[in-house]
Order: sequence, then C-alpha cells, then structure tokens
Amino acid sequence: MISPKNRLLIILITLFSVNSAFSQALERPRLVVGIVVDQMRWDYLYRFYDRYGAHGFRRMLNEGLSCQNAMINYLPSYTAVGHATVYTGSVPSLHGIAANNFYRNSTGESIYCTQDNSVRGVGCPDPNATQGRMSPKNLQVTTITDELKLATNFRSKVVGIAIKDRGSILPAGHAADAAYWFDYKSGNWITSTWYRESLPKWLENYNEKKSWKKYIEKDWTTLYPIETYIQSTPDRNNYEEQFVENQGVEFPIKSAELSKTQGEGFMICQTPYGNAMTLDVAQLAVENEQLGADKITDFLTVSFSSPDYIGHRFGANSAKVEDNYLRLDHDLGEFLKFLDAKIGRDNYLVFLTSDHAGAHNGQFLLDNKIAAGNWEQDIYADSLNSYLAKKFDAEKIVRNLDNYQINFDIRKIDSLKLDFEKIREESVKYMSQFSVFQYVVDLTKISEAVVPAKLREMIINGYNREFSGAVQLVLKAGFYSDSDLRGATHGSWNPYDTHIPLLFFGWGINKATTTAEVHMTDIAATIAAMLHIQMPSACIGKPVF
Ligand SMILES: [Zn+2]
Repeated sequence: MISPKNRLLIILITLFSVNSAFSQALERPRLVVGIVVDQMRWDYLYRFYDRYGAHGFRRMLNEGLSCQNAMINYLPSYTAVGHATVYTGSVPSLHGIAANNFYRNSTGESIYCTQDNSVRGVGCPDPNATQGRMSPKNLQVTTITDELKLATNFRSKVVGIAIKDRGSILPAGHAADAAYWFDYKSGNWITSTWYRESLPKWLENYNEKKSWKKYIEKDWTTLYPIETYIQSTPDRNNYEEQFVENQGVEFPIKSAELSKTQGEGFMICQTPYGNAMTLDVAQLAVENEQLGADKITDFLTVSFSSPDYIGHRFGANSAKVEDNYLRLDHDLGEFLKFLDAKIGRDNYLVFLTSDHAGAHNGQFLLDNKIAAGNWEQDIYADSLNSYLAKKFDAEKIVRNLDNYQINFDIRKIDSLKLDFEKIREESVKYMSQFSVFQYVVDLTKISEAVVPAKLREMIINGYNREFSGAVQLVLKAGFYSDSDLRGATHGSWNPYDTHIPLLFFGWGINKATTTAEVHMTDIAATIAAMLHIQMPSACIGKPVF
C-alpha cells in the first residue's frame, strides 16, 4: 500500500520530471533566414561601412558572428554552383551542379542547372515556356533545407525567393513547399509543378497588381548626392555596359523610359529596386505562409539577384555598385525590423553570404597599371580545334571552352575511336604555350599537376566527371573572356571571386569575429549543428564554431 503521503510525493516527483522534461525541450529558432547576395564581395562590408545605416549590414556585423575569411573551395565560382554549395555544404564533384550551364559527357546533352522538362511553369502565361520548367532535379544531394524537412517529419515549412530561378530553387531544395522566382518577360513571380499546381492567393494578388512597377516608374537616382560617392570611379567613364548603344549610363538611370525598349521586368532586375521587390515578396511569404509562427522551425531562403546584374554591367568600382549596396543595406535593415516585430528578435536566425564575389573591370585595372587582360575563348577554341584536327584528322572535337574548361565532344571521339588520353595530352601541350594561362591541367591527372595545393583542392572539388570538361584552364589573375572590356565578371579561383562575406545573426549567436579561414561548405554544417539536425547528404564542411 502506498501511503497518502508517499502518493503525494510520487505525484510531486512525476510533476517535477514532466516539468523538467518540458524545460529541457530542444531549443530551436522559429525561423531560419538564409540570405545570399549574388556577387557580393567580402570587402563590400567594409568598403562602404561608413556609409551604411545602423540597421542593416552594420547591425549584423556588430551584433552577430562575422567570418572574415570565408572562401569558396571549388571551381568555377558561378551562381548556381554557389547556391548549391551554400545549402548542401558540398562541392560540384559531389553535388552535380558543375556550372550554370554544363554538358552530360556521356550524351553531349546541354543542361541548364535547374532545367527540368518533366515539370511545367505555374504562374507564367505559357506553362511550357522554359522559364517555368525548372526544379532542383539536377542537384544530386540533399540541402540543409531538405534535412530540416526530414528532421521534423515535414512539419517545417521551407520557401525560397529570388529573381533568378537558380537562386531560389537550389537553396529551397527538393522537399520545399515552394520556390518562387521572377519571370521578367511576364512580370510575374512564378513556380513550377515540382512544388505545386497553382500559385497561392497572396502571390496571385501580387502578380495581378504588379506592385513592383511603382519602383521603376521613378528613375534610378543615387540615394545620396552623387558627389559623395568618393569610393567609386566618376559616373561618366568608359568601363560600364550601356543599355542602349552610345546613350551612356550616367545617373539618373531613366528606368521608366528604358523600360519601353528593354522591358519593365528586365529593368527592375537591373536596378537595386529588384532587391526591394524581392524583399516585398519575402515579407508576403512570411506573413501569408505563417513562417516562424510556431515552434516548429521554418526556413526562408532569399537570394538577391540584382547585385549580380548590376556588378556585371557596371563593375566593382562603379557608383552604381556603391548605390546598390547602400540601398540594399537600407532594405535589409527594414527587413530585419520586420522580422523583429513579426517573429521576435531572439526567435530567428539569419545567415548572410554570397554565391561568389566579382572582379574589377579589366580596362579600369589596366588604366591603373594593374595586371589584367581579356581572353576571347571562342578564338582559342577554334585555334585548338584546328590544331587537333591536324593531329587526329577529326574536325571540331572541342565543343567549347565554357566554364574555364575544355569541353570535348566525347561521343565524336568515341565513335571515331580516337585516343582521348592523347587528345587531352595534346590539348594541354597546345594551350600551355599561351601566356594568358597560368596552368592547363588534365582533370584525370590532377595529382600530377604542379599547382599550389590550395588551387589543386579547388580544381578537384570542382571536377564532376559526369558534367565537367576534361581539361581545366586556369587564367592569370585579372584575365577574363570579355570582348568589349565593359562591365565585369567572375568565375575564377582568385580571391576577388572567391572571398565571400559570411555573417550569422540572431538566435543562438553571440557577437564575435574570426579571421580563421572557413569555407562556403561550412555554412550548412554550422546550421545543421545549431539546429541539431542531420548534415546534408554530401556535406564536407565543418561547423564554424
Ligand atoms: Zn554573375
């Protein structure tokens, strides 16, 4: 018999353990927000630091964890590869996204990273148009967002938002509730049947109103007086790509007028207003999909695509890039304030990084006596083809030199029973004679190549035997394929392309700075560790703290 006194004790002990079990419940943030700023160089955090407001980048830097030496650890440094790597913690050799556009070596089929002809567009006027036929099918491993879904038995919600399809789809992963991207032709935000059969009402309404048009009805003026843009080349210069030939691209950029010839959807992408539009849609998603509304962690991925378009067109030293970051800083600050109010300032975790950085304009460097140059890849491809044609009595066995690799027509080589090893050897020999190349490396013999260890690892990580070219071309610093030397680009191993910002902010993050080298592949590993969920299926990264 249990005495009444003992019974009371048992009840108290039971109550206490139930209570302590509750207090020991696993702590997770309500919402994780992954932010990728397309083409953001790490040094932009500091280049414009004094001009940033208190609520955007500076708030993240001053209250969060800043990894000062976050590096991309593969080649090539392109958008699709960057987004795939950030969210998988893996590298092209494993995750399968070898570039934005690549080839399936066995068949010669040309593949766009997120192309999927088995799905249809949702929200675009023609469901069979290319821009809607997109999915994460070509990504061969799980993302951190997939792992969150698996960890909570799919109770977590995952939504991806970006102007670019690849900036939305690859982060959101395979199991996402939705990824939305911008169809600049129709001016609609769209998705595909991979995710759902129709757009949610809130996005249909947004598309109907085309509320983003309010942004480009105004000209793109500078946020502050133009004479204060002392970190940039004077606005009138010859380094920038014009919208219309011989019309110049000085501030104010007449976005409304240019829309008439270039298209409104195109113009919003090319201005910082593309960032504002992206955040409007992200905010609507948080509100209408109830992201972060309960204790089951949700994940919102946001990628800002406009900084990449602006960087390509105007170059890193332009007042347009400076203005883009000042405006983005402001918009980001407003978005963090929105999250504070909606989710609670201690209930959400943000990371901010980029998919790749970007180089200066080549002519700008040359004019300032810094080594740079251009490299016409088609001319080099033709000349290599002529050389190989004489050696092997076969025309056009090189398809192209895309992605800084020699892409061979392997089916042709097989059908003609040519010696592929000998072809690669001759190609390395021929290309090595040109001074634009630092190294030319047969990718099947990387271990024999005399290249710095860091570069070797990047080459190995980037080499996917199913989808990569067979010979790697490493250009000298400052060299790009660029015919008119206007604007700028990225894709190389060099720090100006591969040194990326990495900030963690909010739930579970204490203010800190580290100069230790960490890698893009460490981001997903860090989030997995913080959430106590499984790492993505081919993650090779380590938590940064
Ligand atoms: Zn780009």
